[in-house]
Parts: sequence; structure tokens; C-alpha cells
Amino acid sequence: MSLVTNDYKLKIIELKKKRGATILAHNYQRPEVQDIADYVGDSLGLSTNAARTEQETIVFCGVHFMAETASIICPDKVVLIPDLEAGCSLASTIDGAQLKKWKSEHADAVVVSYVNTSAEIKAMSDYCCTSSNAVKVVNSIPKDRKVLFLPDMFLGAYVADVTKRKNMFIWPGECHVHAGIRAEDVNRMLSKFKDADFLIHPECGCTSSSLYHSSNGDILKRPYVLSTEGMMNHAKASNASKYVIATEVGILHRMTKENPSKTFIPIKEDAICKYMKMITLEKVYDSLTKNIYRVKVPQKIADRARLAIDRMLQLN
Ligand code: SF4
Repeated sequence: MSLVTNDYKLKIIELKKKRGATILAHNYQRPEVQDIADYVGDSLGLSTNAARTEQETIVFCGVHFMAETASIICPDKVVLIPDLEAGCSLASTIDGAQLKKWKSEHADAVVVSYVNTSAEIKAMSDYCCTSSNAVKVVNSIPKDRKVLFLPDMFLGAYVADVTKRKNMFIWPGECHVHAGIRAEDVNRMLSKFKDADFLIHPECGCTSSSLYHSSNGDILKRPYVLSTEGMMNHAKASNASKYVIATEVGILHRMTKENPSKTFIPIKEDAICKYMKMITLEKVYDSLTKNIYRVKVPQKIADRARLAIDRMLQLN
């Protein structure tokens, strides 16, 4: 660790105590940012922690829609994101006008939005979901109701497969990082690491084809399709000594830290989210000293979006 990095870490830890701030970091954040966080986790864990925290200020080390979710859940708190440009290629695949048009084509459908959406989209949805609870959310909807699932097509295809639901319509959105993980990558790594557990995120471009190939016996063993937090739990509980991880590489830091005797191998070294990596220690420090950048969702949108988030949280 460089002196500069260590200096920033010490200053941030001191500042957050002085300011009464809590730092929440997503599993895909840079290792040094994860190390100064009070909580590191997936979208669902970050939302529940934001709701629970007693601190006045939340510094959200993640992408913009996540900070918006924290602002929706905790309207009285100061929510800061260290870089306003930290967006999400998946969330930006659908806007309010597109959803309005889609809803008008499917009257009476129930809208389920993955948490990777803007506050505006959440406000137009009936339910929110994360990759940990998407199956549970869709299963809670009466079978005879149509479902519009957005915006991730791979997660949608996975949920439709697991729930065996035929009346589910899926928005054709994708995340550039996960879409880049293909079935060829899985097959190559499966033959190279035959004794490893394979952990695949449901947003990956390889998920649907991996499930298909594994049920046909084309690949050696069935991969575990898990949210990032599910991956963490699996890595702790499994007896395997090696794991091939198909999601953004940032999670390997936490996996290795919490399971030092096990080996974690990224399915692709370049599965990197440039938006997540925009948050640096320097920017976290600036955020705490200059009170930047405040994320505040307008009350009308926040109130409607909160209903969709609360429906999801009630199912957990
Ligand atoms: S990894 Fe993909 S879904 Fe996650 S924040 Fe980055 S672009 Fe969005």
C-alpha cells in the first residue's frame, strides 16, 4: 500500500467519525475503497444498511442509481456520491418515456424493475427486485398476471426459466460488463479448472446458455447462479478450495479477504465496471470535506419509488 493511499485511509476514517458519516461500498468498488467502508455488499445489502444506519450522512461508494435508492429510503439523510459521473450502462437502457410506452402496450401488467434503474423508473414500477430476490418477487405475483421485467434481459431470462412463467415480458437491456462474459468463457475455464466451483451472476451473458448446456450435459457440472452476496455466502460455506467467479472482478478482494485459504479466479480479468472504478479514495475524501455530491430525489418521485422498494423489502 502506498503512503498516499494509507494517508487517505487514515484521514477518511478520522473524518467520517467527526462528521457522523457512514460509508457504504458496493462489492465492485476498488479494494482500497472497500477497506475504508463500514459496510460492503450488494445492492440489497446496501439498501437495508442505508435504511438502518443512525448516522446523518451516507457516503455512497457505488453508482448513481444506488445513491438515489439510499436517498429514497432515507429522505432525511444527506446522501453523497463521490463522483456524479458514476452511472450504469444497464440502468441507462430505459427511460421514463420508453417505460410509459411499454406499459401502454400491456395494460394491467405488473412492472418489476431490477434495482439497477433510475428513481424515475422505480417510481413507475410496482416492485423493485435485486438479483438475490428477483425469483421471490416474481413468484409473489399471481400467476395469471402479466409481468413486465426490466431492464436486464439475462436476469429476466433466468427468472423466467426458474419460475416457469410464460407471461413474462423482458426488456432487452444489458450491462456491458456482464454481457461480455460468454458461454465460451465458461467452457474454457471449466475445462481448465475441473475441480473448481463455478459461481455465475444471473446478469451474465453466459447464464441462460450455461443453464441450457448444463441441463443437456454439455458442460461438466452445473454452475451456481448467485447474486454477489450469494457468491460470498457460497464461498464461505463450500468445501471447495478453488472458485471461478463470473462477475465484476472487484468482488475477488472481499472473497479473498474473508476466505484467505481459498483461491478465487476471475472468469475474465477484464470484467471491470469503469463506472464503479470512478470512485477513488481521493474523491471519497473530497466528498467528506466538501460535502459533494449530494443526491436528493424529488419528494414526489421518491414517495412513489419507495412503494416499489418497500414491497421488495417486505418479501425479505
Ligand atoms: S457492473 Fe454493469 S450493472 Fe453493475 S454498475 Fe457497472 S454497468 Fe451497471
